[in-house]
Amino acid sequence: MPPPFRSRTLEDFAVELDAFDFGETRLTGVHVHHTYRPDHDAFRRLGGRRCVQGMHRYHTGALGWSDIAQHESVGPDGSLWSGRGWRRPPASSRGHNGTPRRHPFMFEMIGDFETVEDEAHDRLTGPQRAAAVGLCALVCRRFGLRPGDAVKFHRELGEPWKSCPGNLIGKEEWIADVEAWTPDRPSHGAPAGAAEPGPFGAPHRRYAVRPGDTLWSIAARHGLTPAQLAEWNDLDPARPIHPGDALVLPAGARAMPESGGAA
Ligand SMILES: [Zn+2]
Repeated sequence: MPPPFRSRTLEDFAVELDAFDFGETRLTGVHVHHTYRPDHDAFRRLGGRRCVQGMHRYHTGALGWSDIAQHESVGPDGSLWSGRGWRRPPASSRGHNGTPRRHPFMFEMIGDFETVEDEAHDRLTGPQRAAAVGLCALVCRRFGLRPGDAVKFHRELGEPWKSCPGNLIGKEEWIADVEAWTPDRPSHGAPAGAAEPGPFGAPHRRYAVRPGDTLWSIAARHGLTPAQLAEWNDLDPARPIHPGDALVLPAGARAMPESGGAA
């Protein structure tokens, strides 16, 4: 039987991390991975719990490990799913897993962020990126770690042939975001006490970016300003969006007829 995996918001995770009794254990860093599979589509079809249960089954069955590899899994909606006990070393990368007393915190972002011939499979945007960056920042703060030294992508861990967490994700920008992170910044967590952890407190719906879409055109069609749309999705309005990107829109945003093509 797999453990009862729990889904929390980043805010709940922060409270749990603060209160957690690490005993003699010290976390020495944060290792960042993507799952590759399951991907965003699997998460949409199966839900977070079944994705995490599937990884647990694969790690303990086919791979013969004692438990799921990662301490935490981050869903596309920003949900944080519990995994291996935090006092135990992860199965992150051979030779880099540490000891029960001193080991890194390791998490997987559910998705495939690899670009093949300029085609992205999944995009790390909005709530998922916010939750993953916040998680790195919180662990660094709890153990007094400098993000630039402590946060490692899987591809930096002696396996240079690996691209994990995906060649779409730049390290420098990631570290800058972790360093700039503050708990006051909206992190899209559901309000404390909400029954279902979701990416937003407010009702929302999803929108898949189509060829030819821009932030401006999507915003205009849904009665939003580009700034509002960017804020909802934690996007930099100056950066392009791509077909297949998953955006969220306020539930009340109504699609209006297309008005004659791109400006
Ligand atoms: Zn990896």
